Amino acid sequence: MQAFEATSHYFDQAARLLDLSENIRTLLITPDREVRVEVVIEMDSGRLGNFLGYRVQHDNSRGPFKGGLRYHPKVDDDEARSLASLMTWKTALVDIPFGGAKGGINCDPTALSKAEMERLTRRFTEKIHDVIGPVKDIPAPDMGTDAQVMAWIMNEYGKYAGFTPAVVTGKPVELHGSAGREAATGYGVAIVAREMLGRMGRTIGGSTFAIQGFGNVGSFTARFLAKEGAKIVAVSDAYGGLRNPEGIDVEALAHHVSTARKVVGFEGARPCSNEELMRSEVDVLIPAALGGVFDRAAAEAVRARLIVEAANGPTWPEADEVFNARGIPVVPDILANAGGVIVSYFEWVQNLQNFRWPLEQVQREEEKKLVDAFHDIHDLATRKKLSMRTAAFYRAIARVGRAHALAGI
Ligand code: NAD
Repeated sequence: MQAFEATSHYFDQAARLLDLSENIRTLLITPDREVRVEVVIEMDSGRLGNFLGYRVQHDNSRGPFKGGLRYHPKVDDDEARSLASLMTWKTALVDIPFGGAKGGINCDPTALSKAEMERLTRRFTEKIHDVIGPVKDIPAPDMGTDAQVMAWIMNEYGKYAGFTPAVVTGKPVELHGSAGREAATGYGVAIVAREMLGRMGRTIGGSTFAIQGFGNVGSFTARFLAKEGAKIVAVSDAYGGLRNPEGIDVEALAHHVSTARKVVGFEGARPCSNEELMRSEVDVLIPAALGGVFDRAAAEAVRARLIVEAANGPTWPEADEVFNARGIPVVPDILANAGGVIVSYFEWVQNLQNFRWPLEQVQREEEKKLVDAFHDIHDLATRKKLSMRTAAFYRAIARVGRAHALAGI
């Protein structure tokens, strides 16, 4: 099974309960536009580098297309299609006026110099500039991209359209970014984990956590959880993992990673493999790296009491069935990691208004949106006896379907 098929499976599971007409169902699942471009740049060595770039625009019935750009060797059209569809349901679920899109470049950003990254980003922007824009499609950071990449896109796009900061979100705060955007996804994951633990009669303080991935999302999630008294007993990244049953000092680890660029080598914990981390006996397991990390066998090996999906698409449908059968609750990606796109929305609003919000306001509004969405979905799932994933898709599909029906086909 490929990523888009998995997303479509979750869509179908919920759409069946909504009694949608075949026309609306087809309309909702089919991407609106798919762009594939050849991105050719001069490498530092003088030879030409040839990369494939993608932008999939899934649905814009509720507002402009919105979604991240990923730079990773596994980026392809199927992955972009799956992630674009997830963005449509995510923006609808937390009720912000955007649709869904996703894209990226098939490359290994760790093997590129900063100058090569800049040339790649500028050339990609040049190739897609006519399909993006503040009222068309607004990219943001994802795996392998960051605020610097967004600054280059804004600058390159400005050569065609003039000063247009609202063309991308996740920009540096000094260049029309929003306070709180960099940490927003991890902050949101921690809020959602807190609310779910509350529903289970527990608190973050005193609970144990294992987190796969220590990039933007994983590291900020760990930092916010640790601030609330969580015991982070295992973390990992692409190079390996760490374990300490007494709890890892997350701030010291973040400091180590800022220079070493990997968690391995940190002295306050012993090494462990990614597989070991995924099988940790903890209260909460948080995948915060790649998609597709839980297949049937991995799900059967899980010994956590709760899963909070910080990564996009970490769970294959066969694993979802295992979690449901084993009674392990899963807070789905489109809810758990929605904090990033919520604050991206606030950044877009601030750019359009040429006005800045203080951090406290950004965090307060983000928290309110997430807490409201979380309890709405938890209540819906309880009332209709659904998994939280099916309830989340159900709510989102109903909103997007209604927008199509009102606008007219
Ligand atoms: P990132 O590039 O900042 O970090 C990714 C992390 O995952 C790194 O620590 C990397 O080493 C690790 N990793 C990569 N391959 C791995 C492997 N095989 N095993 C273990 N760890 C591995 O990316 P990010 O922005 O933190 O995104 C992480 C996930 O969160 C992705 O699924 C992304 O789609 C999702 N997400 C990100 C945002 C955002 O605002 N950045 C928003 C919503 C969802």
